[in-house]
Amino acid sequence: KLYNEVQDLKGNIRVYCRIRPFLKGQSQRQTTIEYIGDNGELVVTNPSQKAKESHRLFKFNKVFSPAATQEEVFIDTQPLIRSVLDGYNVCIFAYGQTGSGKTYTMTGPNVSSPEDWGVNYRALNDLFHLSQVRRNSFEYEIGVQMVEIYNEQVRDLCIYLDIHTLGIWNSTQPNGLAVPDASMHSVTSTADVLDLMNVGLMNRAVGATALNERSSRSHSVLTVHVRGTDLETNAVLRGNLHLVDLAGSERVDRSEATGDRLREAQHINKSLSALGDVIFALAQKSQHVPYRNSKLTQVLQSSLGGQAKTLMFVQLNPDVESFSETISTLKFAERVS
Ligand code: ADP
Ligand code: MG
Repeated sequence: KLYNEVQDLKGNIRVYCRIRPFLKGQSQRQTTIEYIGDNGELVVTNPSQKAKESHRLFKFNKVFSPAATQEEVFIDTQPLIRSVLDGYNVCIFAYGQTGSGKTYTMTGPNVSSPEDWGVNYRALNDLFHLSQVRRNSFEYEIGVQMVEIYNEQVRDLCIYLDIHTLGIWNSTQPNGLAVPDASMHSVTSTADVLDLMNVGLMNRAVGATALNERSSRSHSVLTVHVRGTDLETNAVLRGNLHLVDLAGSERVDRSEATGDRLREAQHINKSLSALGDVIFALAQKSQHVPYRNSKLTQVLQSSLGGQAKTLMFVQLNPDVESFSETISTLKFAERVS
């Protein structure tokens, strides 16, 4: 194996916390972030409560401060992503309330400037470049799918994409797990990476205007399938990578939400708890892992558990007004780590 770092990772579940900065015009706001340690410690507090008990300590594999760049975040994610070329399945997802920076981390704010690229672009680009470099012994093919899960329905975000559809991959995988029933596209250049992401984002945005910020109430899943063939022995190696921008984790006030809103909230709630239950079961090395309880966990099943490696970005908005959501996000993370 070329990537020793991967083997240094303890256990198969890692949790990184990322705190977004205050946005322009918010510099006067009070923060709940009291302390960030070098070894993944985080202390949060509610500045309006002076009591000692309001200081709470959490521990992660790593905490990224508001000053962390997209590149810094990627450097600590890259070994995991590269292990896909060695045949590992990997799942990376961003969890947090709406506005906490999930999309910033996974996609980035601005596609046209590469330093702003989030994990998704960097991962695809990196895998594509490495697959070229390693060509002497292995031949790699990279196939990509992009879907959205909304109200327990899976929607293909790349259905109209006009590049290299890989129909042949569109069945089941050798491990017997179904690939989401969505079109698969091959990536053979950086331009393909960009085209693909743009179409996916556009299709997501179309839904968003129609349904009022739908993107924060659906999960988006980018799946990267890698198939490597050893040119001497013809042995085939497969790995896949799921990159997930989850729906906002904020609790919806039951007394206010009705109709569609309430239904959405219930679906989100159900699927996020199902995800939490699966990861909790894996962390406990439990015999029974309840994958079947939501579409989300079914779609991600191949990259959760077994030899698969999982990374969760716990996203925080530092604003004092978000304190109670921050605590509930941190509790979700604490349960699974
Ligand atoms: P979410 O997807 O969780 O709803 P977003 O990623 O859309 O949140 O982030 C909310 C806002 O904060 C956006 O304007 C985004 O550009 C900004 N933002 C988030 N994280 C960062 C960061 N690390 N640095 C600068 N701006 C950020
Ligand atoms: Mg978002």
